[in-house]
Amino acid sequence: MIVTDTHTHLYSEAFDDDQDAMMQRALEVGVERFFVPAIDSTYTEAMYSLQSKYPDNVFLMMGLHPTHVKENYLEELSHVKEQLAKSKFYAIGEIGIDLYWDKTFLKQQQDAFLVQIQLAKEHGLPIVIHCREAFDEVFEVLEQEKGPRLRGIFHCFTGDKAQAQKAIQYGMKLGIGGVATFKNGKIDQFLHEIDLEHVVLETDAPYLAPAPYRGKRNESAYIIKVLERLATLYGLDQKTIAHTTTQNSKVVFGI
Ligand SMILES: [Zn+2]
Repeated sequence: MIVTDTHTHLYSEAFDDDQDAMMQRALEVGVERFFVPAIDSTYTEAMYSLQSKYPDNVFLMMGLHPTHVKENYLEELSHVKEQLAKSKFYAIGEIGIDLYWDKTFLKQQQDAFLVQIQLAKEHGLPIVIHCREAFDEVFEVLEQEKGPRLRGIFHCFTGDKAQAQKAIQYGMKLGIGGVATFKNGKIDQFLHEIDLEHVVLETDAPYLAPAPYRGKRNESAYIIKVLERLATLYGLDQKTIAHTTTQNSKVVFGI
């Protein structure tokens, strides 16, 4: 059984003390494919060094995270473009709009999101979307950019069924993680009505640990808890869920 974690911040300082042991724990339970989203230029070196340690397992994305869109966002976008020109990446991510923490840079967030979607299209890459308290704003940009070259993952999907269907229509898969195991997570109420071909698994480690680790540091090995939950919700065995969601990740990332 091969499990794919489509969203994990393996280079996070949260793993500074035990990165290799943490990777080992994940590999031991069958997590063999790790897709690693970018945040901003301060993490780029750490991402490259992780990839050189695990070249068969770690696949990097490049992008500017919406909560890191600040006064200097144009410089950060130049950094993204430079990296795209010199190395191989598997997606532009994570990008999007986050109005939960701060609305000060909404205009810049919208601009950075749009520019990075266009970059993804130029490079023939999928996008990985971060959306928090901003469904309307994110959908507005997707509506503008929709078409056959728009594809990717709606990471940490927390919307309702109508929003799920809308995301799928824009060429997105739904990234499902720890929230599906929460008692008040809500997506568990309709997820089984969404065809599994639209779903990929993720942890968002070190954040959003699934039950029973909720509130603790998350790591990729815990994706098994998400897998178990989806098996229950869909009434399928874990092997089938792992296989189908890994296949779906191959469709998105091309590997
Ligand atoms: Zn993330």
